[in-house]
Amino acid sequence: MKKTLTLKEFRKRYDTEEACLDKIFRLRYGKLEACPKCHAPADFRRVDKRRCYFCNSCDAQFYPTAGTIFEKTTTPLVDWMYIMYLFTTTRNGVSAKEIERTLGVTYKCAWRMGHKIRELIGVIGVEKLKGIVEADECFIGQKAKNMHRKKREVAVGYRERMANVFGAVERDGNVVAMLVSDTKSATLFPVIENIIEKGATIYTDKSTSYDSMPDKFSHDSVDHNRGQYVKDGVVHTNNIENFWSNLKRTIKGTHIHVSHKHIQKYINECAFRYNNRDSADTMFEMILSKLPEVKA
Ligand SMILES: [Zn+2]
Repeated sequence: MKKTLTLKEFRKRYDTEEACLDKIFRLRYGKLEACPKCHAPADFRRVDKRRCYFCNSCDAQFYPTAGTIFEKTTTPLVDWMYIMYLFTTTRNGVSAKEIERTLGVTYKCAWRMGHKIRELIGVIGVEKLKGIVEADECFIGQKAKNMHRKKREVAVGYRERMANVFGAVERDGNVVAMLVSDTKSATLFPVIENIIEKGATIYTDKSTSYDSMPDKFSHDSVDHNRGQYVKDGVVHTNNIENFWSNLKRTIKGTHIHVSHKHIQKYINECAFRYNNRDSADTMFEMILSKLPEVKA
């Protein structure tokens, strides 16, 4: 059965500003057992309305949120945590509109919150893919030639709507996906070598980009143009195609319009959700644990 972090369990941990700040303190300075400065047994007092701790022995001050994505925010930490929680329980992501509605904050604030959370997600990495790996590319956005002529004329910078994405997924494992400038072999092979472990077997479609795959990999393909989707029972690209559907649902369904500049963040978010599909209960803490790694 799929494990999830229930709202009830979540609320038990993060129901007050104090509980949230204590957690952030532990993430940044370790266990709350001793003063990080004078090492006296922990005896802190918190200053109301300031995200600050005073050590009662040496009077040192600690600002756990300083330098983090929470540094300048006036939005309560409980609200941040709740939105972060929503990121881990929804199927196709959380839109800025939804954050705006849920918290009663401005759209601008909501948009910023979403992106700050995506920055944390962006530093969660995965190991190189191994074993059987499916690789494929997809196209996000509208091709200019499919746009209405009038729209095309007004759409300054319409090229921005186009994005090539390359992705690879290990069978029963993780996915890695990223924006690429084009889908030529010269562009894709270095990416493949970077994210896939030597010795892996790579399945693709018949795209000529994958001809003459580097020697360190085995390669086989299915011919979609000839209606071939599975070969010998194992050669197929169904998992990566599924991931593309998820990604498109997230981008088109939840966020509607996404600029080229931010697409990678949505790809990362989508990959994170896919990679933790069987351990959804750990996703929240995983995101939060990246707090010390992302600067304000
Ligand atoms: Zn101290």
